[in-house]
Amino acid sequence: MNKGRLHMKTLRTDVCIVGGGPAGMMMALLLAKQKVNVLVVERNMNFDREFRGEVLQPRFVQMLDQLNLRSYIESYPHLKLKHGAIMKDSAQIEEFNFTAIDSKFPYAMWMPQPILLQALYKKCQEYPSFSMLFHTKVQSLLKEREEIKGVITKNAQGENLEIQAKITIGADGRFSTIRQLGGFELEYDFYENDLIWFTIPHPKDMDNTLRFYMSKPIYLVLPKYPDLMQIGLAFPKETWKEIRGSGIEKFRGTLKDLNPLFHSFAEELQDFRAFTVLNSRVQYVKEWAKDGCLLIGDAAHCASPVGAMGVSLSVATAIVAADIVWIGLEKQDTTQEWLQQIQTIRSPEIRLFHRSQIRIEKLAIRHTPWLKAIGGTMIPLFIKTKLARAIQRRIFLMPKPLPIDDSFVFEN
Ligand SMILES: Cc1cc2nc3c(=O)[nH]c(=O)nc-3n(C[C@H](O)[C@H](O)[C@H](O)COP(=O)(O)OP(=O)(O)OC[C@H]3O[C@@H](n4cnc5c(N)ncnc54)[C@H](O)[C@@H]3O)c2cc1C
Repeated sequence: MNKGRLHMKTLRTDVCIVGGGPAGMMMALLLAKQKVNVLVVERNMNFDREFRGEVLQPRFVQMLDQLNLRSYIESYPHLKLKHGAIMKDSAQIEEFNFTAIDSKFPYAMWMPQPILLQALYKKCQEYPSFSMLFHTKVQSLLKEREEIKGVITKNAQGENLEIQAKITIGADGRFSTIRQLGGFELEYDFYENDLIWFTIPHPKDMDNTLRFYMSKPIYLVLPKYPDLMQIGLAFPKETWKEIRGSGIEKFRGTLKDLNPLFHSFAEELQDFRAFTVLNSRVQYVKEWAKDGCLLIGDAAHCASPVGAMGVSLSVATAIVAADIVWIGLEKQDTTQEWLQQIQTIRSPEIRLFHRSQIRIEKLAIRHTPWLKAIGGTMIPLFIKTKLARAIQRRIFLMPKPLPIDDSFVFEN
């Protein structure tokens, strides 16, 4: 053992989860409920974050319902989004209605991610086997031959801490440190477009309908809790640099031409700091597991913002992973072979959504004139068909409950 580690403080746990995002916190909660010793390590000092997965599709509500967490999470501040509309310039050409898709889960939720994470954290604290370190960043992995045995972290004071764990979970997002340190390979990494986000005050005369504008660029207007609107402009990846290069004055004009809604926001713009850029990536890791280690959520399968599915797909993987890890610990099996089951269960759905997202990104964002030309006629015709209804159901709802043990269901 090297000299540095001799003086390092050491903690031991069953499961060390790196990353306190939606996937990490949901998995921690489920494992703690099963009395598994679980330690979450989060590099940020709290859950504050902006422009992070806030539209939670009906399938997310469905998962909460399966765990009997729906009323608990819905007791926290959020908006229920029931309607969506497709706009061509300023005219509505079609609408969709979540109530028509499913009566038990007739809405998507808008819940700021800090509120969702705080709610999960608070529930975790009911269980003595749960603990969490904020402001603590993973630096390296502990390894014995090829088996991963934990992590070495550094806290805000610069002190190193060794965490020995039977299983280490990489729930640390799309730029995952565990993925890099563990030598996990990407099978694919698609990146062709960016989404540029900004917010404006919620106009009094506008309702809480999600609006998708088929214009150039195409953009989304989403009601944002408590009283804002979040706008996402979609561009091919090289465009934003060009826009910045042409200066704020020109871009003010572009925004004003796009929608009167943006006039006063554009007026006040002095520079580009009001915008957040999301590289719209679709990534899939070849093998999510190694002996003693597993990737979940965006670290294993990052989704593009198309369809606002990222949180739902990440949390579904976290729920399935909690079940398999719990059984594995009971059987003292933390091998790659055992943990790989999680990918086998989750992969068909993840690949299906990734394929669809990549197809839509290629078509909609890169070939907007095509979409504008025929979309206006085709979409209203298509959206009324049975096929469209079936596709909406497949996107917004899970076809069947997640395969987990009933003991994960929370009492009232
Ligand atoms: C701008 C934007 C908008 C989005 N909008 C939506 C939406 O509306 N709906 C939706 O469903 N999805 C949306 N997504 C996607 C969604 O945010 C992600 O899919 C989801 O957050 C993934 O959850 P996760 O827990 O896997 O990872 P993350 O949420 O990325 O959490 C990872 C956590 O790990 C921590 N971490 C990272 N490295 C380390 C380290 N070395 N040590 C310790 N901690 C570390 C991070 O601080 C973070 O807290 C959006 C994403 C972006 C960027």
